Amino acid sequence: MSAGTAASAAYIVAGLLFILSLAGLSKHETAKAGNVFGIAGMVIALVATIGLAARSISGVGAVLLAVAVVVGAAIGLWRARRVEMTGMPELIAVLHSFVGLAAVLVGWNGYLSVEADAGEQTEVAENLLGIHSAEVVIGVFIGAVTFTGSIVAFLKLSGRIRSNPLMLPAHNALNLGALVAFAVLTVLFVIDPSLPLLIAVTVLALGLGWHLVASIGGGDMPVVVSMLNSYSGWAAAASGFLLGNDLLIITGALVGSSGAYLSYIMCTAMNRSFLSVIAGGFGNEGAAAADRDYGEHTEISAEGVAELLTDARSVVITPGYGMAVAQAQGAVAELTRHLQDRGVDVRFGIHPVAGRLPGHMNVLLAEAKVPYDIVLEMDEVNDDLAGTDVVLVIGANDTVNPAATEDPSSPIAGMPVLKVWEADQVVVFKRSMNTGYAGVQNPLFFRDNSRMLFGDARDRVEDIVTALPKPDRKTAEPALQH
Ligand code: NDP
Repeated sequence: MSAGTAASAAYIVAGLLFILSLAGLSKHETAKAGNVFGIAGMVIALVATIGLAARSISGVGAVLLAVAVVVGAAIGLWRARRVEMTGMPELIAVLHSFVGLAAVLVGWNGYLSVEADAGEQTEVAENLLGIHSAEVVIGVFIGAVTFTGSIVAFLKLSGRIRSNPLMLPAHNALNLGALVAFAVLTVLFVIDPSLPLLIAVTVLALGLGWHLVASIGGGDMPVVVSMLNSYSGWAAAASGFLLGNDLLIITGALVGSSGAYLSYIMCTAMNRSFLSVIAGGFGNEGAAAADRDYGEHTEISAEGVAELLTDARSVVITPGYGMAVAQAQGAVAELTRHLQDRGVDVRFGIHPVAGRLPGHMNVLLAEAKVPYDIVLEMDEVNDDLAGTDVVLVIGANDTVNPAATEDPSSPIAGMPVLKVWEADQVVVFKRSMNTGYAGVQNPLFFRDNSRMLFGDARDRVEDIVTALPKPDRKTAEPALQH
């Protein structure tokens, strides 16, 4: 078997493993297996690609390749081991920017080694040269948009720049104008490829990527992250066409389409129009709502919450980003076990954009071994909240904000939220009266049936566990299995 045939066979196996990985990742129960499939696919893909490349490069090239792989793998391992769950979105944004940059470099390399090289050019059939030029310009465009868009997303998610939307006058016209200019430049480049045209496309795309993400507001960042995920996939697929690498095309298409579908799911979950979000549609219109006077809030102590829970028959816990910051998932699982030992019906309500990345809360709760069957999605639990005795809002804010449904002037108006205020009692765990990610004040904190429990969520949950009376085993229902 030739090296090329062996590599093609390995690519098919790797492609199948990536598909199995995506299928596995779609359910809690199979997510670990999904990860293993993905890792196996990537190892096979790397070995096949390096093996193929090693046959056609010089000694110095092979050494450079080996050094690049070792240094890249070392940096990847180091970052992955050190990153906190709360820092994952930023890390993902940075990784997307690398894919974008790689696509730009591959595109430029394609131009320099074919269109700009008269010798190579004559070896490419004339009708294929046009296709090659189109691949170059499209790859560079998608890659450059992904590159700067991901950098802005990283800066916003890590708090290095403000997450408020940049509102340039006629920003929609600017975006549309950039797309039209790209179409014109592409046609010109295919007819007569030249360096100035490629520079123009690159600069235009870098500017468009920056502007697209800069003009998107805080609450809509989840869609941006999944959208950039999709772009990075298409950028990789474009590189695959240029390099003639089938696996890169398959993998890029898988990432591109699954990212696009995830963006669609997130938009539906947040009641946003996909086009409006990517065009930077949500502005500061409702910022005034943050300054509104909602009255006084009422505090409660951990002992007070323990008393509330002692009398409760049903409890719903709605975790948010603060649970991740406090690393409170273990203590929350412990509290859940105590309450279940007392015969209380405990369930979790998970908002689709709670935390800072899709599935953030589910991952934390799974890590703390909370059984999947009591972890429900927002739509599964929302109608039951009105009949619930106590809701514990643990480090969530935007995802439980009634202004989203009641105040049309709010920046998060229209976003579906967990209707926790409909329960008999609500306890909000946070450290201060600060706003959440979207920067919007939350009228929930000032409701008559709301109590604020201030402090680090993990410490407070542990205080409650300590304050809870020991369960009366004779009267308790069967305990939580795990
Ligand atoms: P929020 O960001 O709205 O609020 C988190 C709350 O946790 C804050 O009010 C903070 O209050 C509190 N908190 C922080 N640290 C602690 C701690 N150690 N102990 C106790 N409380 C703490 O969280 P939600 O999960 O409700 O909403 C997610 C937001 O993030 C949404 O706006 C969403 O659009 C956005 N987003 C989501 C992404 C995703 O993919 N899921 C990606 C990007 C953005 P205080 O400081 O007073 O303690």
